[in-house]
Amino acid sequence: MHTTENPIKKFVIVGGGTAGWIAAATIANIFKHTDVRIELVESDDIGIIGVGEATIPPLLATIRSLGIDEAEFIKATQASFKWGIQFVDWHTKGESYFHPFGSIGRTIDGHDFYQCWLKTQAEGDNTPLMAHSPESVLSEHGRFFLPFKAMNTPLAGAQYALHLDSTLVGRYLRNFAENLGVQRTEGLIENVTQDDDGWITGVSLKSGQHIAGDFFIDCSGFRGLLIEQTLNTGYNDWSEYLPCNRAVTVQTKKIHPLRPYTVATAREAGWTWRIPLQHRTGNGYVFCDKFCSDKEAIQTLLNTIDGEPLGEPRIIPFVTGMRKKSWHKNCLALGLAQGFLEPLESTAIHLVSKTLALFVRMFPDRECNPLIMDEFNRRVRADYQEIRDFLVLHYCASDRVDTEFWRWCKNMKVPPSLQRKLDYFQVAGGLIPGVEELFQPSSWYAILTGMAILPNSYNPTVDALDYKKLQQSLNAGKQAIENIVQQQPSHEDFIKEYCQAPSP
Ligand SMILES: Cc1cc2nc3c(=O)[nH]c(=O)nc-3n(C[C@H](O)[C@H](O)[C@H](O)COP(=O)(O)OP(=O)(O)OC[C@H]3O[C@@H](n4cnc5c(N)ncnc54)[C@H](O)[C@@H]3O)c2cc1C
Repeated sequence: MHTTENPIKKFVIVGGGTAGWIAAATIANIFKHTDVRIELVESDDIGIIGVGEATIPPLLATIRSLGIDEAEFIKATQASFKWGIQFVDWHTKGESYFHPFGSIGRTIDGHDFYQCWLKTQAEGDNTPLMAHSPESVLSEHGRFFLPFKAMNTPLAGAQYALHLDSTLVGRYLRNFAENLGVQRTEGLIENVTQDDDGWITGVSLKSGQHIAGDFFIDCSGFRGLLIEQTLNTGYNDWSEYLPCNRAVTVQTKKIHPLRPYTVATAREAGWTWRIPLQHRTGNGYVFCDKFCSDKEAIQTLLNTIDGEPLGEPRIIPFVTGMRKKSWHKNCLALGLAQGFLEPLESTAIHLVSKTLALFVRMFPDRECNPLIMDEFNRRVRADYQEIRDFLVLHYCASDRVDTEFWRWCKNMKVPPSLQRKLDYFQVAGGLIPGVEELFQPSSWYAILTGMAILPNSYNPTVDALDYKKLQQSLNAGKQAIENIVQQQPSHEDFIKEYCQAPSP
């Protein structure tokens, strides 16, 4: 055993959007007491995409792992809390369902809760699955609290995430990273230099300055300045499964009450989001241009927002998919440079953190062993495919046939990996979590139940339980959630007390 003889001494991060600054903060935090240098280059002329406001719980773990105080971060980013997502009109117009973070119900005498619930349904009980989800009941009542303060209650394991202002997140993390010694250089990269084997040696700016490095992190957004325009890594286009390819966004004045969840409403040719922040609301319409023009999309969005618009609607085109390799030679792509899956389950910022965490676990030296790179790329691909399949479920399981878009979805091609999962669910009565998967069975059950899909039967081992006791146990759990939720403050009151942001 020996220490590596060829360590990476200089990182160059290209891009100062959310991805760039998360990367800078994470790597700077790891190497803060060493001579490893990090330089981030960003162009004020190009700017950042400036959208990406809903997150999922692992973001908070990232924030905490950097030693950042949660309340301070919330105040600085005008954040609000999020227990999950309400899906409106997805299965049928006029119906909605909830996807909560965290698990639903608790095991009963070692039996999986979902199987117990299925048994009660088979016996004629029609209590909704979501009555057993703390996050769902809290959302229904507009309440918020910190779960660790409710130890020994059914709310103790509740999980939350944040809605935040992505521009302010970038600003906050920039400050954090610069305090740890990250050097920021403003300027437009016009040229990328490579050695004879194609490995990147540096980037040259319009000003004439040349920045050399050992390892390069491409956070340059959709253009993929290093990973695509320089290394020509190629892109897996997944439009055949997820056809939406444009979004129109607009911010509106704050509305009351401040809901502790994101709302995703199915529309004629896609879906709209509503994300409440402390100082304003974020809105957008994700749509497919085969079924809707930009003009129609803007009109749909403006017709469906609450609150006065704070600017002109903005169109953002995108192609769903991911780079064939996230890590190629001495270049790692993160954020929009790595790939894009529509924001239906708010997974993009999470994928930045998760990819970085994997990179840290597999940390290379300057030679970047191909075995490490291959395994890394395989795992990142699996992460993207898992999320892609989960998103596709939202579309392919819909019963809607009222527009051309939804009729297309009814007959859409389903990825074989998703089809296998759905077939297994039907015959086995449930799902087994995969290795290091983001969406646990409870998330799948939430969407499947919301889409009125139940398996053929429940797991027969549940029949070994005394049915009366089983029913009592489920009722007691449901009642305990209801009782304790009623004692919690409203989302707005909680924020006022704990983390009120200054007026912008
Ligand atoms: C419509 C939409 C909605 C979204 N909603 C969500 C959401 O709810 N939740 C979520 O987690 N994610 C969401 N995302 C994704 C999220 O916005 C991004 O993952 C996140 O903002 C990271 O962006 P980025 O840093 O990769 O790219 P960008 O913000 O585009 O940053 C690119 C950076 O590269 C720099 N750059 C580019 N070219 C050059 C050059 N030649 N020279 C110098 N600098 C250069 C730019 O100046 C900029 O600093 C959404 C995305 C879209 C499109």
